[in-house]
Amino acid sequence: MTKVPAKQLARKDLLCTKAFIGGEWVSASKTFDVKNPATGELLSTLPDCGSAETEAAIAAAVAPQKLWAKKTAKERSAVLKKWVALIDKHKDDLALILTWENGKPIAESLGEIASGMGYIEWFAEEAKRAYGDVIHGHLPDKRLMVILQPVGITAAITPWNFPHSMISRKAGPALAAGCAQIVKPPAQTPLSALAMAKLAEEAGLPKGLFSIVTSSRARDVGTVLTTDPRVAKFSFTGSTEVGKLLMAQCAGTVKKISLELGGNAPFLVFDDADLDAAVTGAMASKFRNAGQTCVCANRFIVQRSVAKQFAEKLKSAMEKMVVGNGADDGVTTGPLIDAPSVEKVEALVKDATAKGAKVALGGNKHKLGGFYFEPTLLTNMTPDMLIATNEIFGPVAAIFEFDKDEEAIAMANSTRYGLASYFYARDLSRVFNVAESIESGMVGVNTGMLTTEVAPFGGVKESGLGREGGWQGLREYVEEKYICLSI
Ligand code: NAP
Repeated sequence: MTKVPAKQLARKDLLCTKAFIGGEWVSASKTFDVKNPATGELLSTLPDCGSAETEAAIAAAVAPQKLWAKKTAKERSAVLKKWVALIDKHKDDLALILTWENGKPIAESLGEIASGMGYIEWFAEEAKRAYGDVIHGHLPDKRLMVILQPVGITAAITPWNFPHSMISRKAGPALAAGCAQIVKPPAQTPLSALAMAKLAEEAGLPKGLFSIVTSSRARDVGTVLTTDPRVAKFSFTGSTEVGKLLMAQCAGTVKKISLELGGNAPFLVFDDADLDAAVTGAMASKFRNAGQTCVCANRFIVQRSVAKQFAEKLKSAMEKMVVGNGADDGVTTGPLIDAPSVEKVEALVKDATAKGAKVALGGNKHKLGGFYFEPTLLTNMTPDMLIATNEIFGPVAAIFEFDKDEEAIAMANSTRYGLASYFYARDLSRVFNVAESIESGMVGVNTGMLTTEVAPFGGVKESGLGREGGWQGLREYVEEKYICLSI
């Protein structure tokens, strides 16, 4: 049963009630509910798929994938571009569904959908440029070449914080390269995935190539996706803990894997920085999705001589944040995804204050109740506090201080994560020294926003393996085959 929330969709059928397996909309004997984190309202009741449905999705992909792989890149690209056009046409409905299930403001949902379309369109084009190599022969009679071929059937498990774009980044390159993909979306936000599948079907994507296995039993579905020998490639975005587990499960069949895992982004501000620009970047990096992104600034590391000024400016900017239901006009910050997330953020703030941090703003659950937390600014942070080593995943900005550049770099690198990092400075030699010394897959210099489909997104250390976006993103879904020809 679907209870349609207050604002209506132009296309009500985009709010789905069935899973999409092997090109069919199917039910299951068990179901689970999807609720709006802002209101607790029931959005949809979905099939609670398990291993049988997951195996069915894999079986249904085998034959279509082989045919899809034989099409020209241009033919595949044409279908993907139709999909993008339909997503664009229905973006207002998709944004509303995304906001209902995730809580982020509508403007952010529209931004996420634009980003998702960008990835699919990029890979639709990139597939045409999947060049191999021709190599000088090692003997006079040898001619050598390398061709790129789709890996085959791929599987993806995605998180709730970007219900749309985390799928576009995986399905886009997979389908463009000639693969099939079976997606297990998160139980809290599966509706964006289903709406995408509905539009993919309308775009003419052949049956069986793209399945969405809805489930509240992630372990059951995940076990099949990571152990079935028919799945050649597994791509995961989520926490480092679950990523490690799934990586181990993939070992049995030696799958090609990509892991986009957790982060603990440092955001450094040096004494020669443009502080107003740094605050603008800090707001963009820290508070998107109420602080629930893997690339959110987790630790502000600010040179002591400008720390007070930076904190004051950041506080003024934070005071303008409007907390509320993301579907309401003017709201800049929605709720957190669930009650445990609120408890975790509250515990991190309590730990910091117990160890000497000062609360410059907020610090508590929001008076709106539910899953809302106050935009919070902490100063006097020290490395023994849990925030120094844990992903906050909430609207809390925490300021650490440093004196010398080497100290700032050491602090930035004192984490097991290495996804995004940011810094603000103007001296050219300092800019290069810091950018090259920071241990992370991505560095934003004088910017708080770095995600784009044209560049490789991904982490080092325990933040993951592989890249999404750029020409590199397509390589995750192809094998390089070396052909040695004797003439
Ligand atoms: P999570 O708990 O690891 O869940 C991610 C996905 O894995 C969900 O679909 C979840 O399903 C599934 N899952 C959980 N346990 C599983 C198991 N034992 N077997 C198979 N699947 C399992 O992470 P999250 O809390 O949803 O997402 C937040 C995390 O993702 C943060 O650490 C964030 O930094 C990271 N993230 C990284 C990137 C990146 O690009 N590096 C991007 C976005 C987010 P259910 O939801 O149904 O339980």
